[in-house]
Amino acid sequence: MPSYNLLLLPGDGIGPEVMAEVGKVVAFLGQAGLASFETETDLVGGSAIDAHGKPLADATLKRADAADAILLGAVGGPKWNGVAYDIRPEAGLLRLRKDLGLFANLRPAICYPALADASALKRELVEGLDIMIVRELTGGVYFGEPKEITTLPDGSKRAVDTQVYTTGEIARIAHVAFDLARKRGNRVASADKNNVMKSGVLWKEVVGEVHAAHYADVELEHVLADNCAMQLVRRPKQFDVLVTDNLFGDILSDAAAMLTGSLGMLPSASLGEVDDRGTRKALYEPVHGSAPDIAGQDAANPLAMIGSLAMCLRYSFGLGEAADLLDGAITDALAGGARTRDIASEGSRVVGTKGMGDAVVAALKARVG
Ligand code: NAD
Repeated sequence: MPSYNLLLLPGDGIGPEVMAEVGKVVAFLGQAGLASFETETDLVGGSAIDAHGKPLADATLKRADAADAILLGAVGGPKWNGVAYDIRPEAGLLRLRKDLGLFANLRPAICYPALADASALKRELVEGLDIMIVRELTGGVYFGEPKEITTLPDGSKRAVDTQVYTTGEIARIAHVAFDLARKRGNRVASADKNNVMKSGVLWKEVVGEVHAAHYADVELEHVLADNCAMQLVRRPKQFDVLVTDNLFGDILSDAAAMLTGSLGMLPSASLGEVDDRGTRKALYEPVHGSAPDIAGQDAANPLAMIGSLAMCLRYSFGLGEAADLLDGAITDALAGGARTRDIASEGSRVVGTKGMGDAVVAALKARVG
């Protein structure tokens, strides 16, 4: 069995707590002969600022570049609120995404049957929900130049962000979405604002061209991003793969997050281009942040982090069976009644971070036999 090199970047707040549970799963997969990993651990975010004066040391970036995949916990917290903008904890994460060319952010929003009542929407609207949001991650308004605040002659200020996309940037994210759709429900919805934004006009045009040239077998629907937000809370199960730009993806994926019950349930993958050897850079992380309000209390839900490992098995290593096994173990642990506080309902068995990690490993053992 090949051994993969995994770089673990636990980060801040609850990051190290949820990463410790991934450690248990990695150990089990190795013992059971399902997947073998060499792991290295390093600093990112606030912990890296404390150690190196910046949120991502050059040596860490080098390690990340060399690793087969990266697992990241979360960064940030009130301790670092006062640091300069350029070296804030999140800058470490942005640099990793940008320097490794991680342009495709995959965020599945899955509603487990056992958790349908934890959603803000009615059970019948969300039970069985399985959406894959594909967000463009390295372009658009978060990176476009100019990006500045200037002072006008009258002393008032003017702020500018620039929304910019090229044909190539749109086409490569469209390919990711269509390829994924073929392995799922074969449907793509592409969200933009072509009614008011030039970048939206180009987005719609290029997605349509990629579809016509390569994916005519996949169903494609164009939807305006504001209508998409409405549809996500009105009839979310209509979507299979939803592809959109950096800004709309940020907002729509958080809206979809609430359909599933808790931020603590949502994994994500950020993928780069496929290289000549058929491999790609990849970083896997929970959607949630460092949750300083519950850090150090054994209260964080580790399932988003463990689910991120499942995505890593699937998308970086092609270990679909091991990924299915791990996703199944998460379903079993929930069906068995284990609940961290964020997903607890009346009468449920509340466990801590460690207890939930143990429940997943026990479910894995039961499945492996
Ligand atoms: P957050 O995601 O950390 O927390 C939002 C709420 O969700 C909190 O009430 C928290 O307790 C809860 N929550 C989050 N993850 C949970 C889990 N696994 N289990 C149970 N409950 C969970 O967002 P925030 O409070 O806006 O930000 C806190 C810090 O995290 C800030 O410094 C922010 O900049 C940073 N942040 C980092 C990332 C990242 O590392 N990718 C993402 C978002 C926010």
